[in-house]
Amino acid sequence: MNLPLATVNKLLTWSCVDGPGNRLVLFLQGCNFACPGCHNPYTIGQCNDCGLCVPACPTPALSMRGGRVHFDPATCTQCDACLTACPISASPMTRDYTLDEVLDSLRENAPFLTGITVSGGEATLHLKFILALFAAIKADRQLARLTCFIDSNGHLGEKGWQRALPVTDGVMLDVKAFGAGTHQALTGRGNDKSLASVRTVHAAGKLYELRFLLVPGKTDTPAELEALADLVLSLDPGQRVRLNAFQHHGVKGPARDWERMTRTATEAAAARLAALGLGNVVLPSVWL
Ligand code: SF4
Ligand code: SF4
Repeated sequence: MNLPLATVNKLLTWSCVDGPGNRLVLFLQGCNFACPGCHNPYTIGQCNDCGLCVPACPTPALSMRGGRVHFDPATCTQCDACLTACPISASPMTRDYTLDEVLDSLRENAPFLTGITVSGGEATLHLKFILALFAAIKADRQLARLTCFIDSNGHLGEKGWQRALPVTDGVMLDVKAFGAGTHQALTGRGNDKSLASVRTVHAAGKLYELRFLLVPGKTDTPAELEALADLVLSLDPGQRVRLNAFQHHGVKGPARDWERMTRTATEAAAARLAALGLGNVVLPSVWL
């Protein structure tokens, strides 16, 4: 069988903010949203080997070989000049992983891990790889105890979820906005699929966390908070909801001029949601 490769932006062998417990996290490259407020914008594009980043690199870390950009991590100083030079929000520093390489990394770190989270970019663009990976973990005697989670923007159709959910233990899902125009402005896409995904994943008993990004003047409005409350109350008032607060770190372009979400305003939004009946609202992990 031809096993898929995954283009990985970053592999973290330990994280305590990407799902329950200690988790190995795979950040896969490429996203189907184009959020102007993204704090990892260089994970959005897929490199097309145009080579424009090569002359921007102040070290020999980047070169063209056989028409493809080649990255040498040993000489990279992590200055990020290549990320700034890339016109399509991609990165030349990604690495293609085989399934076996990810499984080897999991085996090496398994004693310290609760599970694995596949994130992005948008993880579900690599659905074939995720399905093969999670199935292999569950079939492996040493790894089967590890839980398999997906962190997603929800832009995956029903058929995709029906393939993913049988091998997935939990999902962290983003809803970026409830107003259709606001969602379009914040992501470049409509929110129909994300809202449907929330219901599908919840119905399967696998919605570990619903995530909502508060952006001042855009998604912290009474209408947005009430729509969030309506959705959660229609599922389960005890559903875990994680509030994220827009900050400038990593953000490129006009969104750098957006107001940042303060802790006080975030706590006020959490209090408003609690008053509307939500019983499990969690603040951004950085403030806990
Ligand atoms: S971050 Fe990019 S530009 Fe900077 S040294 Fe590494 S490869 Fe070169
Ligand atoms: S990372 Fe961007 S600039 Fe560099 S080769 Fe790929 S697409 Fe071109």
